[in-house]
Amino acid sequence: MTQVDERRIAELGHDLLARVRSAAPWPLTRAWVEDRGMAWTMRDERFKAQLFRFVDALPGLRDDAAVVRHLGEYLGPVAGALPAPARWLLGRQGWPTRPLVAGAARFAAHRLAHKFIAGESVAGAARALGRLRRRRLAFTIDLLGETVLSEVEADGYADQYRALIGGLSDATVGWRADDLLDQGARVNVSIKLSALTSRWDPAAPVATSRAVRERLRPILRLARTRGAFVNVDMEHHAYKELVLTVLRDVLDEAEFRAWPDVGVAIQAYLRSCGDDLDRLATWARARGTPLWVRLVKGAYWDYETVIAAQNGWPVPVWTDKRATDAAFEAHTRFLFANRDALRPAIAGHNVRSIAHALAVAEAHGVAPADYEFQMLYGMAEPLKDAVAALGRRVRVYAPFGRLLPGMAYLVRRLLENTSNTSFVRAGFLEGAPEEHLLMPPIAGPERLRHVGADFVNEPLTDFSRAEARDALQGAISALRPRLPLPVAPHFPGAVGRGPRVEIRNPSRLSEVVAQVRQADAGEATAAAASAARAFPAWRDTPVAERARLLETTADLLASERMRLCAIIALETGKGWREADADVAEAVDFCRYYAREAIAVLAPRTRDVPGERNEYRREPRGVAAVIAPWNFPLAILTGMSAAALAAGNTVVLKPAEQSPAIAWELSDAFRRAGIPAGVVAFLPGVGEVVGPALLAHPAVTTVAFTGSRDVGLAIGRDAWLAAPRVGHVIRVIAEMGGKNAIIVDDDADLDEAVQGVVASAFGYQGQKCSACSRAVVLDAVHDAFVARLLDAVRSLVIGEADDPATQVGPVIDAEARDRILARIADARGEATLAYAGDVGEWGKRGTYVAPHVFTAVPPESRLAQEEIFGPVLAVLRARDLDQALAIANGTRYALTGGLYSRSPATIQRVRRDFHVGNLYINRKITGALVDRQPFGGFKLSGVGAKAGGPDYLLQFLDARVITENTLRHGFTGDET
Ligand code: NAD
Repeated sequence: MTQVDERRIAELGHDLLARVRSAAPWPLTRAWVEDRGMAWTMRDERFKAQLFRFVDALPGLRDDAAVVRHLGEYLGPVAGALPAPARWLLGRQGWPTRPLVAGAARFAAHRLAHKFIAGESVAGAARALGRLRRRRLAFTIDLLGETVLSEVEADGYADQYRALIGGLSDATVGWRADDLLDQGARVNVSIKLSALTSRWDPAAPVATSRAVRERLRPILRLARTRGAFVNVDMEHHAYKELVLTVLRDVLDEAEFRAWPDVGVAIQAYLRSCGDDLDRLATWARARGTPLWVRLVKGAYWDYETVIAAQNGWPVPVWTDKRATDAAFEAHTRFLFANRDALRPAIAGHNVRSIAHALAVAEAHGVAPADYEFQMLYGMAEPLKDAVAALGRRVRVYAPFGRLLPGMAYLVRRLLENTSNTSFVRAGFLEGAPEEHLLMPPIAGPERLRHVGADFVNEPLTDFSRAEARDALQGAISALRPRLPLPVAPHFPGAVGRGPRVEIRNPSRLSEVVAQVRQADAGEATAAAASAARAFPAWRDTPVAERARLLETTADLLASERMRLCAIIALETGKGWREADADVAEAVDFCRYYAREAIAVLAPRTRDVPGERNEYRREPRGVAAVIAPWNFPLAILTGMSAAALAAGNTVVLKPAEQSPAIAWELSDAFRRAGIPAGVVAFLPGVGEVVGPALLAHPAVTTVAFTGSRDVGLAIGRDAWLAAPRVGHVIRVIAEMGGKNAIIVDDDADLDEAVQGVVASAFGYQGQKCSACSRAVVLDAVHDAFVARLLDAVRSLVIGEADDPATQVGPVIDAEARDRILARIADARGEATLAYAGDVGEWGKRGTYVAPHVFTAVPPESRLAQEEIFGPVLAVLRARDLDQALAIANGTRYALTGGLYSRSPATIQRVRRDFHVGNLYINRKITGALVDRQPFGGFKLSGVGAKAGGPDYLLQFLDARVITENTLRHGFTGDET
């Protein structure tokens, strides 16, 4: 590659900086005031964060009172940073200052928004673009939008794009020609592909690409006819592969193959950027038409590092800012060297990076028309003029649209301008020395975010990676020829004397997944006896050894993860991500309880002179583990791993519907080296084998997870059995829920609708943690419901093992009939606002489509009783008090959620919403071992938290042994 002369870069850089600095705004002009304002907010990071959070919440606030209240809540805690008069005003909530303060806040945010957003209409944007043109600046325009949650919204977005292309083509037709600026196309639009479908899913690239291209083609056709250019924007890392796939798919179509007016944004902060550019260059050459590449540094750095840390995924971005700068220069050189295939559009406001690109272009002798610079609207104005004055094309990325959805964009820009690694901050606002600004970037050490926990959860599989998708698809294909899987009781002496049953795939009833020989009552007794015989040796096995065996089990489950996912998907109708999370959680449970057991069983003594005191924890005996089908591996593993780690032996009784995956667990325990008899695997009907287990004198503990009625019955029978069996059977019962999410009147509806949909319809609502009630404050109720219904209408029903499916089948025909009966009943209690249709799927499997009821009375059966299916009740609340009363007003207390942007409301709800697991501003399902120990109270359970520090204690009894060592004059302390 051509060498670039550092001296030339420095020369060009100094020249640019001199031009920029001579154009510094005059004191007291609008630009000067804005710069001062920006510099002022940066003085205190906490103040800045609170201020920007307020700006983000502002458009959703309905009246002056709400604005003033939120202002106080956000800025109150950091008011020390404000001048005294502003502090004084902040404390006034009432008349006459209220309208004044609210008005001032709105005015300031509006001004700020106008700085970065080109207009609210096509006409307004055209005027702003005309002003840019007079400064000899080209443009690309981007449409700000809310997150697309439904197909209706995706249609609306596509329509707006076509209107934008048409409108701008008309508005700019009269502009005087300019060879440099008009090279290629005068009208240039930037588009986010993810907004062209509500079913954007990196795990389902084929279906997503098809759906996106449907809406993209008409846009591209119109652009081509009107001579406009289309640039595809890049968003989060998780979307990148899919964006590139869709782009290549559409541009490989015959009608677009030769069309040159297309580009894509590529982010230099991604470690994969070099490979992506390589692949793109190869592809563009094969296509035969070059592609423009807008090389940016990347705007989601914080998001990417946080998401990676949260999920335990490799960090996709360079963690040192200088590494990104260095990569940016390397990629710039690559683009210029490969400009036959990729046309360079160098985007950013870093003078050093721009000077470097200018020098590279010079070294290659590239004509100014064949590359360009891009900068953002409202940022680094003197730099735009300086580069334009050199006779280079500068294109301004100008967003337009309504200010409400624009706030997220605005806040991103504000953060970018004021971040302490930003060139804009150092170069334009703080006036750092020129040599410093122009130094060649040299990467420093990596800075990784720490999650701050000792226990590391098994990462969820990232299905945006092709290898991960291929692995699961491969596992499903490999499983099918092996079906049906044989399942039978397993313990020394087991035969399987009960009935033989078939387990069918609920997505496709023609497929038999497992053939089961069930146990009968006699065999249940034999299983308990076998576990009882194995107990003494297991109890006396050192806890470190038991822990090691559980760690080995975890390793086995982890290494066979995709095969286990495939079994779960086919046996219980769980989708890819849900099945994967099930296995990951099982792995976590084994590892977590293994290490907890070592801590909990550590000897504890309280000796005083002449007296030894020992506090000793001991396993209780045989634990009957009775599990549900909805987390067919995770819950079964959690309950049994805890019992085993503590030194109990176990009778493993899976749900009737999910014996095949349960068999895998039992087999993994065996292969890990847990001795025969310690785990007795007992597939069978609960009503048959359950009573036999409770009647066996060796069974001292029942770990049950399932429905309320069964749990309460087991509890009752356990107490009644006490006189016969000679001890009190301890029952750990995790039962149902009627979980509510409160949607506050200032909630971000993009997030609230997404969170409610995911919580209510994930795994068809068959999670104990699922949201079955949305309690929505009156002021946003109708807007929320409108978007919710569109979103629910857009969910794709299909087979669970198809990654494009969003709603699969319910577990079996009995569940389907029960849920449908409950829906029919509920029609008499509330308004059925949406009833989905399962269509053809209903003939193949056991499907129930999503249903949403509105105007639901809080006391109705619909609002009080668990349905355990894809049915959501929406309740209207006058205010927060009423919302809390409704949310708390059931006999369950498992999970709950809140969407709000008011710090005071969040505080209040933390205190007053009585549930076992409360989630704020996120979905209410998906608890992780150790991070979110899980379990409820009231009729949801006994309050023990699975995956938490107290859980193991339930499988242990404590004994205290006191020995007097003061005898015959010896203190006993000598020994
Ligand atoms: P279920 O109560 O029908 O069955 C659970 C288990 O109990 C099964 O293994 C079943 O065979 C067994 N069983 C049934 N009758 C029995 C009896 N008389 N004696 C002994 N065992 C008996 O529940 P399900 O349909 O499998 O699961 C759905 C329910 O589980 C929902 O209510 C859900 O909320 C609840 N759940 C709760 C949690 C939680 O952590 N709180 C987690 C998952 C599921």
